[in-house]
Amino acid sequence: MRAFQRIALLGSTGSIGESTLDVIARHPDRLGVFALSAFSRMEKLAEQAAATGAALVVVPDDAAADRFRQAWRGAGARPAIRVGAQALAEAAADPGCDTVVAAIVGAAGLPSSLAAARAGKRILLANKEALVAAGSLFMAAVRDNGAELLPIDSEHNAIFQCLPHGSRASAPTEPAAGVRRLIVTASGGPFRGRDPDTLHAVTPEQACAHPNWSMGRKISVDSATMVNKGLEVIEAHWLFAMPADRIEVVIHPQSVVHSMVEYHDGSVLAQLGQPDMRTPIAYGLGFPDRLQSGVGMLDLVRWGRLDFEAPDLRRFPCLGLCFDALRAGQGACIALNAANEVAVAAFLAGGLAYTRIAPVIAQALQWQAGRPSVTLGGLEDVLGLDAETRAHVLEWIGRAAA
Ligand code: NDP
Ligand code: MG
Repeated sequence: MRAFQRIALLGSTGSIGESTLDVIARHPDRLGVFALSAFSRMEKLAEQAAATGAALVVVPDDAAADRFRQAWRGAGARPAIRVGAQALAEAAADPGCDTVVAAIVGAAGLPSSLAAARAGKRILLANKEALVAAGSLFMAAVRDNGAELLPIDSEHNAIFQCLPHGSRASAPTEPAAGVRRLIVTASGGPFRGRDPDTLHAVTPEQACAHPNWSMGRKISVDSATMVNKGLEVIEAHWLFAMPADRIEVVIHPQSVVHSMVEYHDGSVLAQLGQPDMRTPIAYGLGFPDRLQSGVGMLDLVRWGRLDFEAPDLRRFPCLGLCFDALRAGQGACIALNAANEVAVAAFLAGGLAYTRIAPVIAQALQWQAGRPSVTLGGLEDVLGLDAETRAHVLEWIGRAAA
């Protein structure tokens, strides 16, 4: 059994954060909370900190810190409060934790994920945007600093489980021996069977009503557009050192098969389970042991059948754009991710039609391809291009609305 793990859970108030706390609470003998972080939900953060006995919380600014103090009802000592993005990175690298759960949404999670890698932590990575924007930087930091990387995005966790034992290195530099392809499953989201001509009037509530998974709003919209699957293809490329043309996406509406690994001998290994993130989270927290996750068992007889189909790229243009970005390189991936984050936020705020998300991403890719190429070696370079893309996309959206 592994030694007791002290965990920094960054993004604790979100969907992954809450699922992680649920699993941690089941194993007080081996898992404890060192730090928690939130962005807007200070009441919830105060409840979580009181329930877990966290030593530290990280909040975005002084106003949030005040709100946290007012919300604090804990019986024990109030946790230390640290403020700002830099404090997130410091918490991830703090000697007080051995494990970092990276569950912040968006590129905002990149600096702290990278800091965890540089500090050689065990990292449970949910924050896929960090890999999309800075895959080579992040994976090199994992390798160079002896960090341990465990994917908890369900597809990547499934692939990790299906890889040959010896090939579950934290940051491989080449595809695992014997593996021909990775087959990433996708539910197809809430609009899988819908006539694309009716999508212009889609509301945020409809886009966020995922048929199988309960998730944060940004990833829910990403699932509807299938940007999420495209980001996951890029994520798989970095995690498993797999070229784009050896990663296939298959629509599987039941979300029971979480992904597969195809071997040269014709074997295909799959990981199955209920669509509940506590399974991959428990896998990551317990690895190499198996922990109780609270997830019910899979009843295949009740399911009766499992369906698979090829994705239709006319219906899901964003999926094709993600493959384009992966083939084009890191600058394109940064622009794609930033443009998507801005477009999805605008859609959720009622300022952009659902059907404009794909054209905005395509425009950002075109803009990026046309600008002089720059070196993207360090975190500052990545964040610079990310910020520049966001500014352009905001301007395009604003101009179109005027
Ligand atoms: P949520 O929106 O539910 O939660 C996001 C968390 O990040 C919250 O704690 C939020 O704080 C915090 N946060 C938001 N913006 C910032 C910011 N700018 N700086 C610091 N913290 C911030 O997202 P999910 O839990 O659904 O997703 C988290 C990550 O995990 C994403 O990268 C997603 O792609 C990935 N993932 C999620 C899955 C799921 O089932 N939900 C499945 C697989 C991957 P607050 O709530 O206080 O504002
Ligand atoms: Mg996923």
